[in-house]
Amino acid sequence: MRQQLVEVVKAKGITNKNVLNAISVIPRHLFMDSSFIDHAYQDKAFPIAADQTISQPFTVAYQTQLLEVKKGDKILEIGTGSGYQTAVLCLLGATVFSIERQKELFKKTSKFLPKLGYRPKKLIFGDGYIGLESEAPFDSIIVTAGAPFVPKPLLSQLKIGGRLVIPVGDDVQVMTLFIRKGPKEFEQQEFDKFRFVPLLGDKN
Ligand code: SAM
Repeated sequence: MRQQLVEVVKAKGITNKNVLNAISVIPRHLFMDSSFIDHAYQDKAFPIAADQTISQPFTVAYQTQLLEVKKGDKILEIGTGSGYQTAVLCLLGATVFSIERQKELFKKTSKFLPKLGYRPKKLIFGDGYIGLESEAPFDSIIVTAGAPFVPKPLLSQLKIGGRLVIPVGDDVQVMTLFIRKGPKEFEQQEFDKFRFVPLLGDKN
């Protein structure tokens, strides 16, 4: 079933071999609530705890491909959720820091990932809008919830040459890539449209 899912995301345009390999080996069904387990290898998002979702595999692959992950990259993920995207990054050999704002998900995923053998460097319960200054700079940052605007701390926590992949927008988001070219210079590229759950602010 995982191989079929690989074929589906390939047909939708994913070409990065390491990303496709990650989809073919990570047991997505274990990241999902048991009521959805039969659907785990469909290319769809599904509900997880705390009114959140495990992202569609194509979306995970799309964002990961844009990150151009190299072994040993130091990566910050905003929105740990089920931990599936975190597992993909770990499998690609990245040193992963991941922030989750929902305590229930933070606790659950912190226990679950090591059981499966995925060991992010640090999972943090906190607010992704402020990033993780204490560990900056990062080779790349990935935001896995829809951001109404681009949080400035995330741009400033990138290395020169670093990449920020972030879906930007309210109801519909445009996948946006920022590459840091200098202390204050960023190249911006826009890609396809997606629908994410919102990146929650302080008051939500
Ligand atoms: N990467 C996740 C996965 O593979 O399951 C995607 C989960 S979901 C699409 C987005 C996640 O972002 C949710 O778990 C949500 O709680 C989290 N989130 C929302 N606002 C946040 C914030 N301000 N800081 C950190 N995480 C946040």
